[in-house]
Amino acid sequence: MSRDENRPLVGHGLETDPLSDKVAFPRLSEEELAEVAAFGERHSFARDEPLFCAGDQPFNSHAILSGSVRVVDFSSGERLVLLRYGQGYFTGDIDLFTHRPSVVSCEAETEVEAIRLTPGQLRYLFTRKPILGEKFWKSFQRRRELLLLSRFRGLTIYGPKDDRPTLDAVQLLFRNSVPFNWLDTSAEENCVRLHDIRQNVRAFPVVAHGGRVLFEAPTRLQLADHLHLRRTLPDSTYDVLILGAGPAGLGAAVYAASEGLSTLVLDRLGPGGQASSTSLIENYAGFPNGVSGQALAHSSYLQALKFGADFHMPSSVSSLARQDNGTYRAETVEGDAVITRTVIVATGVSYRLLDVEGLETLQGAGVFYGATSVEARLCRNAPAHIVGAGNSAGQAAMFLSQTADHVSLLVRGFDLRKMSSYLAERLLANTKVAIRYRTELMGVEGTDHIAAVHVRESNGEVKREPTAGLFVFIGAKPRTDFLHASAATDEKGFLLTGTDVAALSVWKERRPPCTVETSLPRVFAAGDCRNATPKRVAFAIGDGVAAVTSVHNVLDAVAF
Ligand SMILES: Cc1cc2nc3c(=O)[nH]c(=O)nc-3n(C[C@H](O)[C@H](O)[C@H](O)COP(=O)(O)OP(=O)(O)OC[C@H]3O[C@@H](n4cnc5c(N)ncnc54)[C@H](O)[C@@H]3O)c2cc1C
Repeated sequence: MSRDENRPLVGHGLETDPLSDKVAFPRLSEEELAEVAAFGERHSFARDEPLFCAGDQPFNSHAILSGSVRVVDFSSGERLVLLRYGQGYFTGDIDLFTHRPSVVSCEAETEVEAIRLTPGQLRYLFTRKPILGEKFWKSFQRRRELLLLSRFRGLTIYGPKDDRPTLDAVQLLFRNSVPFNWLDTSAEENCVRLHDIRQNVRAFPVVAHGGRVLFEAPTRLQLADHLHLRRTLPDSTYDVLILGAGPAGLGAAVYAASEGLSTLVLDRLGPGGQASSTSLIENYAGFPNGVSGQALAHSSYLQALKFGADFHMPSSVSSLARQDNGTYRAETVEGDAVITRTVIVATGVSYRLLDVEGLETLQGAGVFYGATSVEARLCRNAPAHIVGAGNSAGQAAMFLSQTADHVSLLVRGFDLRKMSSYLAERLLANTKVAIRYRTELMGVEGTDHIAAVHVRESNGEVKREPTAGLFVFIGAKPRTDFLHASAATDEKGFLLTGTDVAALSVWKERRPPCTVETSLPRVFAAGDCRNATPKRVAFAIGDGVAAVTSVHNVLDAVAF
């Protein structure tokens, strides 16, 4: 078939012809196809035979030698042909590397001859033919962006906005960049839609793919297993185990995997850490217009995957024990265990709870410790309250002011000196944000969801104010409890490292500790959980990288 006869057709599901995007859909030349052939196997498909189906895991990429294929989406409940393409194009998207199931199906439209490439073969091609490999990788990333811009729906989550399990499921999918659509069943039209596919719902959320209900009220682990966010961990010993996938853990993962270390990352929720709870990071070098925390985290996650790092989430580490042979064994709340030669603790911090009655029971039900698009949606055209005066509180106020009716920033002191000046100036100029100095949160009201806050004004008067969301950013506590005091910390629980550890009697090694090494030999700390570090994204990433340098040093010196 000649190239002109094989001109790709415009897909129905996307606004513009996706094939005009040459990054997403590059057409390989005859020479490039010949290069690709050396990495995979030739395969024939009969007309209408699937190359892979939505839900398949693992699935493969196919470079098409002759014939044409169509990409089909069933997630809206209808069969929708997204696009068709033929000779010289290749199939696949980023989930080849995330190890998650394919989100779309691909069928042979005619008889098809193709070169089949497994994810492992693709990764080999990336290292052996980097320029060609780059075409595949960039196209997989761009295809996902285009898919999310299209009418593609992905999983549908049905549940009301004041239902904690629903918000938990939404948070899990958001943090792991799983394409989904949340239909808030507090709105009548969404209730009707749900009724079409499931009646007599006893508990939320209902999780569906098109018209097919997959779960009613799944646990977090059921959902994670279904999405292949968790995998069976191998028995082998990792070179480095990274605890936490915030900026420090992701920075470490990219460097460790790119330098050939076998790397596993565990996180209790998904990639991003605190950074993914901020809509715009403006002080990270290289992004003059700022970058969303979730976007930065997602690209770092993909970068680490590209180099071969393993991720396993949600996975909350509950203990870390040194074994007789010097390796470490980590166990998780979810029942997993893993052995490693070295560990990087990058578990960051969590925001402190305010000591206000009723606050804890409303956590996640209108009381939040991060402000992402998920929470912003809950405050649309309604008032929101924020407690705190640091950068996190300031950013949350700026972000929420885009959707909320108005935002009250409750500041105990009488200035914004703890906040970066650029941010403080922006807040002062924002007419939707009221900065209320010398005010304190005294109480909250609500049963299933927060309804109102009680605020003490600077004159001592206590006011009741309706609210759709209370956001608390009042100082952080390190997440190092799982070490059960086996590693030395300062009085607040931040891990001591390097010279601070060298001075301690618990350090028994003959060599001095590396700069970021904790009092446990070959266990390093990076980012916010480490003592006396600037609590910033750029620093956390750099700290993760520094920890990998130390991992190299000790692995070179010790044989296991
Ligand atoms: C709202 C907000 C806005 C911010 N804005 C900016 C900004 O604009 N610029 C800037 O430079 N900094 C900003 N920061 C600070 C910045 O996000 C942090 O300094 C940075 O995220 C620290 O990275 P980290 O990897 O050390 O820790 P974290 O980001 O806290 O990540 C730690 C990770 O470890 C995981 N974890 C914790 N315990 C366990 C466990 N037991 N097992 C498994 N996993 C675990 C957590 O789930 C988390 O993903 C902001 C912070 C917030 C909250």
